Amino acid sequence: MSDCLFCKIVKGEIPCSLVYQDDAVMAFKDINPLAPTHLLVIPKQHLASALDINAHNSAVIAHMFEVIPQIAKEAGIAEKGFRIVTNIGKDGGQIVQHLHFHILGGRHLEPSLG
Ligand code: 5GP
Ligand code: ZN
Repeated sequence: MSDCLFCKIVKGEIPCSLVYQDDAVMAFKDINPLAPTHLLVIPKQHLASALDINAHNSAVIAHMFEVIPQIAKEAGIAEKGFRIVTNIGKDGGQIVQHLHFHILGGRHLEPSLG
């Protein structure tokens, strides 16, 4: 989508600190990190949120979860553990309307989800 921030990052119109990319997926550092390691993993195709996942596009979601272990290992957080979060909609706290998984690690994260 032309007015979507993360689509602009995919197209290279807005810079990012890239840690991984392939044909379908990008991972880059969050601009406002909430943990020592805070990455965002996104599909290159525009999906507004996890609500847009369906039988026709779920292969890219599976692929994202295939590459996350590699990304986490390279970030040095795999051994001690980390968290994967996706926010959906207004009550979920979603600010950017392009599906993304937050990868948070490098410190102990509180059990709370709220
Ligand atoms: P949400 O609340 O939608 O789940 O999270 C959006 C995330 O995108 C936030 O953690 C925010 O810091 C991050 N973010 C917003 N704008 C940019 C940007 O231009 N570049 C990068 N790398 N991250 C961004
Ligand atoms: Zn987008």
